[in-house]
Amino acid sequence: MKTDVQIAQEASIRPINELTEYLGIMDNEYELYGKYKAKVSLEVLERLEDKPDGKLILVTAINPTPAGEGKTTVNVGLSMALNKIGRKTITALREPSLGPVFGIKGGAAGGGYAQVVPMEDINLHFTGDFHAITSAHNLLAAMLDNHIHQGNALNIDPKRVVWKRVLDINDRSLRNIIIGLGGTGDGFIRQSGFDITVASEVMAILCLANSFGDLKDRLSRMIVAYTEDGQAVTAGDLEATGAMTLLLKDAIKPNLVQTLENTPAFVHGGPFANIAHGCNSVMATRIGLKLADYVVTEAGFGADLGAEKFFNIKSRFAGLNPAVVVVVATIRALKMNGGVSKNELGYENLSALNVGFANLERHLQNINKFGVPAVVAINKFPTDTDAEIDLLKDRCEGLGVEAILSEVFTKGGAGAIELAEKVVEVCEKKASDYRLLYAVDGSIQEKITTVATEIYRADRVEFTAAAKRQIQEITELGLDKMPVCIAKTQYSFSDNPALLGAPTGFAVTVREVKVNAGAGFIVVITGSLMTMPGLPKVPAANGMDITENGEIIGLS
Ligand code: ADP
Ligand code: MG
Repeated sequence: MKTDVQIAQEASIRPINELTEYLGIMDNEYELYGKYKAKVSLEVLERLEDKPDGKLILVTAINPTPAGEGKTTVNVGLSMALNKIGRKTITALREPSLGPVFGIKGGAAGGGYAQVVPMEDINLHFTGDFHAITSAHNLLAAMLDNHIHQGNALNIDPKRVVWKRVLDINDRSLRNIIIGLGGTGDGFIRQSGFDITVASEVMAILCLANSFGDLKDRLSRMIVAYTEDGQAVTAGDLEATGAMTLLLKDAIKPNLVQTLENTPAFVHGGPFANIAHGCNSVMATRIGLKLADYVVTEAGFGADLGAEKFFNIKSRFAGLNPAVVVVVATIRALKMNGGVSKNELGYENLSALNVGFANLERHLQNINKFGVPAVVAINKFPTDTDAEIDLLKDRCEGLGVEAILSEVFTKGGAGAIELAEKVVEVCEKKASDYRLLYAVDGSIQEKITTVATEIYRADRVEFTAAAKRQIQEITELGLDKMPVCIAKTQYSFSDNPALLGAPTGFAVTVREVKVNAGAGFIVVITGSLMTMPGLPKVPAANGMDITENGEIIGLS
């Protein structure tokens, strides 16, 4: 089979203004970024305010193996299939970060015959949103350090600055740095560090903002430091909000591109799925729901992290009403969850599949708790055997959930016609009774415990002394009435990446709790967490090239 970039470069891609016309976007409501990309103005939402929303389909997955399970691929393929059966559909995805593109995972524009294009643009600089976010974030960092240098009128405690700098490259050497070295004119000396851009609170805010005004308000509320007597210092206090919003004036507008089969696709925003909510922007989703009958969107990692945050954070803030959840499963990953090692995944193993099924089963039970009907998409790999596929379908049927094969990686939209028909049927016949798992007015401990026991199925939650102190401080600041955004390993329901399947009898340990007052959630850290990843021994970057005549090599 051809490589992703070969398939993408051979696609019959349409000028993007044909897609804006198809979607009914007015000439004054979009700007072209070259021939195949456009930014869509937020005014569309005002114009179509009274139009009923389309149906929202969430694509999520079982716990991933290191390769990823194919959520984006199925998301793109399903949207193409829905268009093939005559349903006006938009795909809504996150923008890839350069960290994974050049690190281990590769790009995030789908795969095989289910991709969004132009994939090389989307995976690289795209429309400059990440640059804008990086700049806005770092402007605030510079203004803060300058404030301290210029006399520190706000009485910021330099030991309690919580705003680091960001960069969209995996660079482990920047995790911990000393800034302000040099002479008296060179700033205040203190320890700091870099996070990757997708970990920036500005990214989370851009993706949760409901309007331009909301973007400004949220930026203004971001806490950057504390004073000597424990008061929070915000971006608003530093008078940075206006300039930051100015830097983000185009980044807030959703980017319109297309799939290999010319299905419209919004690719906009890309927050982490651990310390942030892991979904594309609210603006892209909401505009999509006004323009199409169906919007297919993805949430990062497995359903324990991605879907939980999609429901409890994104949908809560944006007033969304998800109609159906598509849970992507691969036979390979289920076997791995059933104890098979990575090298043995290519061989048929029904008993391991049976054991590993417990992982999918628990995710399906969890989705049920949100009141949204589910369909399982089996993302087919060449090594899957008929007996394995039949067993998986039978097990799902036993739970009253249909499992349907997706062959979009090799066949494009044609590989998910049955899945698309099922999704439409569920949207039309099974009313979604979407509900939140918890109310924000509980205590921080209560909210964490609800997610940990109901979704992860922990027996109990343990809080370190530091976490307890932080919870008390946030509560004293009156900032505790927000949803919780829990960072946990994506490989397990528990906080231990080695516990696969559906573990029981474990405790989740909360190590750190901090408030993202602008984004509007409380970040809860379990396990060890990397907000500035490193590169592997042989990064994906080593295999990349471009020839003199523009042929791109190694981007996937
Ligand atoms: P996720 O969104 O869950 O992280 P992706 O859709 O990005 O997963 O897929 C991860 C990787 O696996 C990509 O490189 C993609 O091309 C590849 N992939 C996905 N589905 C298949 C499949 N059915 N067969 C082969 N490779 C696949
Ligand atoms: Mg993905």
